[in-house]
Amino acid sequence: MTGVNAITTKAPSGGVEYRKVDIEESGPLELSPIYTGICGTDKGMATGRLDFAYNPDGQDFIVMGHESICTVKSADSGTGFHPGDLVVPVVRRPGGCINCLAGRQDNCSDGDKHEAGITGKNGFMRETFYDVPEYLVRIKDSALREVGVLTEPLKNVVKVFEVVETVSRRSIYTSRDSTYSGKKAYVVGTGAEGFLFAMMASEYGFDTRILNRHPVEENRLKICDAFGLTFTDYSTGSIDESVDLLIDTSGDPGTFLNFMRKMNYNSIGIMFGTNGKAPAAELTGSDIDRIVERNITLAGSVDAAKIHYEKAVSYLSRWNSVNASALASLITSKRDPSETSLFTERDPNSIKTVIKWT
Ligand SMILES: [Zn+2]
Repeated sequence: MTGVNAITTKAPSGGVEYRKVDIEESGPLELSPIYTGICGTDKGMATGRLDFAYNPDGQDFIVMGHESICTVKSADSGTGFHPGDLVVPVVRRPGGCINCLAGRQDNCSDGDKHEAGITGKNGFMRETFYDVPEYLVRIKDSALREVGVLTEPLKNVVKVFEVVETVSRRSIYTSRDSTYSGKKAYVVGTGAEGFLFAMMASEYGFDTRILNRHPVEENRLKICDAFGLTFTDYSTGSIDESVDLLIDTSGDPGTFLNFMRKMNYNSIGIMFGTNGKAPAAELTGSDIDRIVERNITLAGSVDAAKIHYEKAVSYLSRWNSVNASALASLITSKRDPSETSLFTERDPNSIKTVIKWT
């Protein structure tokens, strides 16, 4: 396709341009993004801080963007899709390892996969692109036409809770009544991903706290109220309770260790956020004592499979029917593709900024 408007960067050195590109691409489905979300990964690429990003073969640039909701523009017969259908494309595309061959490229075992908009595959921040049915997640609920852009970040959350259920099986992790009532979850970070993790912890029944090291604006406190979350600014007061589920979206070693030292017996700590440039922090002998003596499980989790996208869509439908305005308020601004300064600016009110394409 020639002369398509797209947001591009040069990986891994950075920079952002909105311009017309020519890309060799074909497929049975032509898609048009409605919205594409901007996340920390995109900002890291734009500023040249994401060392592992790379351009597709034969290109000296990569089209950015991995969070999207799209409409089908045209579909070959036999694809099962029709013009106007809402879809979310899967970000990771498989390589040849056993996990990739089984549809679990989120757990790729040799690194030979590609991620749209990040590693070797053009992303979704463009007027139109081609794809195949296998990697499209259908959204039947037309009420998700806008908040469906949260499917991609939420699918990471769905996978993490599957990891939590899997690793918690070595002991009784629930309360005596079989639920998570009275169990405490901490989510570190108040970005969109942090909120989605906290909303899911609350959905599971955890007594859920979302934390940051500074106060937050009123819009975030309203979302906490709507979804039964407690916000804590941990720079101003110590937290003396112990935690059963710790989820870190900061990627900051000192922050993670600080909360790891509050982990309860048989608790689970999930590392999700990454920040390769964060300052080092010291793991002590007593930290290891704590992890061992309390049977603490620490696990990393990245990406998710198509099944998790599908479950994420179900959660979005449910949350949208219960509290549409609070869910929609996670999307704090809708901007034009030409506003490339979005990739480098810091706005304390922003939770999820999206680019509006149609
Ligand atoms: Zn693989």
